[in-house]
Amino acid sequence: MIDNKVLLKVNDLRKYFLVEKGILKKSVGTVKAVDDVSITIMEGETYGLVGESGCGKTTFGRCILRGIEPTSGEILLDIDNEPVDLNRLDKKELRATRRYAQMIFQDPYASLDPRMTVLDIVGEPLKINGIAKGQELKDMVIELVRIVGLEVKYLNRYPHAFSGGQRQRIGIARALATKPKLIIADEAVSALDVSVQAQILNLLQKLQQELGLTYLFISHDLSVIQHISDRVGVMYVGKLNEEGKTEVLFQSPAHPYTEALLSAIPKTNPEIKMDRIYLPGDVANPADPPSGCYFHPRCQYAKEICRKEEPAWKEIEPEHFVSCHFSGELKLRGV
Ligand code: SF4
Repeated sequence: MIDNKVLLKVNDLRKYFLVEKGILKKSVGTVKAVDDVSITIMEGETYGLVGESGCGKTTFGRCILRGIEPTSGEILLDIDNEPVDLNRLDKKELRATRRYAQMIFQDPYASLDPRMTVLDIVGEPLKINGIAKGQELKDMVIELVRIVGLEVKYLNRYPHAFSGGQRQRIGIARALATKPKLIIADEAVSALDVSVQAQILNLLQKLQQELGLTYLFISHDLSVIQHISDRVGVMYVGKLNEEGKTEVLFQSPAHPYTEALLSAIPKTNPEIKMDRIYLPGDVANPADPPSGCYFHPRCQYAKEICRKEEPAWKEIEPEHFVSCHFSGELKLRGV
């Protein structure tokens, strides 16, 4: 971390989708994909957001840049030392803030236009934001391509000519073009082979140090999250269950869902024996979540109160938050 300045503060973010039925599109319910989630990310920090598929983490990431329109909440991004609420901006104002925050996507092939060359793809944000044109633009693209470890001779090639890892490097170069402060990486290495994953993660860490970037890193893969994050938030059915510094959360989880996710991490050291906790059933349906604690139908520690009352979000030690009725009593296993 570089310093303790807040770069992004998200307050009570909600994204509800209406479930409609029939020709008249009658509203028959609400899917609470993101339900009252608040996080703060410091400048230079990497915040890892983890959870099973369908837990709302991708929707949350997209709502921050309003790729998906949030239902309510504040999204305060520090722009030139002023917190600007992205959720209050009109389309034109929002476009002007795009250069400060960018996304890297899971599938670099789908996110890169196959008809555009590397020069066009990486140069496009420079052109759109009026940052550079002509030879200056080309020089900037060459610099960006070098920074992400691609050879300049590939400038006039199209995405199909590259491997998955190289395409992700092009995506990163494009995201860096406007010199953003915040990068939201959504499953950015999930589609890559393990060895290529490591190269891209190392590249992201190197770029963070060199350029002072701040990351919101979204992934279902706890090994990846552990490798790259300073702090971690664990999401379940649209809500945060636990948040803490990476070492603390991985060594001493305080929520049974975090414990179960950690037990599924493949062990590299055969000496370490830890039984995997198999969670029964699937992630609860956000259109019809269980009563009380959403996790209770899958939780091996659930008691009567868990079915009736939603646990409060509380700080159990500095910077370690959890929502579980029995967080102080359970002896949970970390890694
Ligand atoms: Fe399990 Fe109850 Fe804690 Fe929910 S509140 S995680 S059901 S022990």
